[in-house]
Amino acid sequence: MPVKEEIEAFAEDMAAWRRDIHAHPETAFEERRTADIVAEKLATFGIDVHRGLAKTGVVGTLSVGTANRAIGLRADLDALDVLEENEFAHASTIPGKMHACGHDGHTAMLLGAAKYLAETRRFDGTVRFIFQPAEENEAGGRVMCEDGLFDLFPVEAVYGMHNQPGLPLGKFGVRAGAAMASADMFTITVHGKGSHAAHPHQGADPILTGAEIVAGLQRVVSRSTNPVQAAVVSVTQFHAGTNMNVIPESATIKGTCRALNREVQDMIEARVTQLASGIATAHGLTAEVIYDRRYPVLVNSEEETLCSARAAAAVVGVENVDTDHPPTMGSEDFAWMLLERTGAYIRVGNGEGVDGGCVVHNSRYDFNDKAAVYGASYWAELVEQELPLG
Ligand SMILES: [Zn+2]
Ligand SMILES: [Zn+2]
Repeated sequence: MPVKEEIEAFAEDMAAWRRDIHAHPETAFEERRTADIVAEKLATFGIDVHRGLAKTGVVGTLSVGTANRAIGLRADLDALDVLEENEFAHASTIPGKMHACGHDGHTAMLLGAAKYLAETRRFDGTVRFIFQPAEENEAGGRVMCEDGLFDLFPVEAVYGMHNQPGLPLGKFGVRAGAAMASADMFTITVHGKGSHAAHPHQGADPILTGAEIVAGLQRVVSRSTNPVQAAVVSVTQFHAGTNMNVIPESATIKGTCRALNREVQDMIEARVTQLASGIATAHGLTAEVIYDRRYPVLVNSEEETLCSARAAAAVVGVENVDTDHPPTMGSEDFAWMLLERTGAYIRVGNGEGVDGGCVVHNSRYDFNDKAAVYGASYWAELVEQELPLG
């Protein structure tokens, strides 16, 4: 029987687990209830459970047969600080927290695959089920690596998956090479000299200079980046002043930068710093720049991308797997795991329209339970293909 038909039998289970997790969202490093559920289910399936990596991370290990090979399958556990506006029965019960990125679905479908693999055992080798905390903003994937994930649980390759609203149900997308951008943050503090607003010549205005810096930063992409390469510099905050007739002492500008390769990322960091201080200096002020590299570029290896596409094709047919899926300037902390092990990150369609088309991080988003069957089947196929019976 095809894997997908067997996984269909777990569809209701996965939907129930997913909806329970959805109703009880937990954010970065606080995923205790969610981790308890994951650990308890893995143990019930007969899978060895290890807890505590990156605080709330859970790693399940299932070894079958004699082969000395191992692969890792990774899901994320965390929710977001978003006030849910959905009114269905499984809506968030915790005001201000919501599974708005579908990590509830990612957790449920990896559990579904674990249940299937533990029952059917049609592979030879070791599967590591990696449930990481804090994918959003706090780099739980990096912390798991720092806590020794791949030393304690060696794998040859590691695979990740994310749902994609707008991509029809039953379709997958993946690409070799850079698939998601690096994400950096910057804070520029412009130090001037406060004065009466009616006597600007007696001060040094950080607001006007800050405004020039915001405009100047637009040159990084338009004038310093090779036009055939992708980059983003977005200013997202500008804070200064408290009074209508006072020129303040300082202004603070914050934002984020994205790139699809390391050289562009390096160039952006250098240019942001240079522009901010140069413009401030030109007006007799100073600019202090804190440039914080957060998530690296996510790079899928050629070989594992092929493995990934092959497994997806076994579930939905080769015509439903886009192997040239467009890269995005969003970022993903699975990129940290891909710095330590070769692997691939695939997209599974969350559907179009009301069912699954609402964008991630929106307060009305919901993971599409129908996508879990495809996702779990993909995981199962991947294991059976990559760790074949002798
Ligand atoms: Zn997200
Ligand atoms: Zn996500």
